[in-house]
Amino acid sequence: MNCIFCKIVNGDIPSKRVYENDKVIVINDIHPACKVHLLIISKDHIESANHLTEDNADIVKDMFMAAKEAAKLSGVSESGYRLINNCGSDGGQTINHLHIHLLGGEKLGERLL
Ligand code: 5GP
Ligand code: ZN
Repeated sequence: MNCIFCKIVNGDIPSKRVYENDKVIVINDIHPACKVHLLIISKDHIESANHLTEDNADIVKDMFMAAKEAAKLSGVSESGYRLINNCGSDGGQTINHLHIHLLGGEKLGERLL
């Protein structure tokens, strides 16, 4: 499958992992939108939030828990951060493999868009 995030998960594209467990990896975004910009990526290929089912949705808990751990490791737990999931075309999703953006390390704008 020609999926960048699957290649990163499999190690075909090398990346420094900020955090990893058996379900999730966390890496730095290649084009950071702010001082700390992490991507929390499911190891399984799930296309988007639209493709969550009763059978695979436990990953959502794993991703939020991984975000919490990665925030701690990146020093933004106390200062705070924003978690964003883009879903589909209007949502701005460009990579069709489930991931959450963790944004922080500076004061973020109040607007959502
Ligand atoms: P989306 O737009 O799908 O919500 O987010 C995709 C994110 O992946 C973008 O913020 C983009 O900068 C990031 N990205 C795209 N290709 C790569 C890559 O090869 N490595 C890393 N670390 N991030 C990537
Ligand atoms: Zn994938």
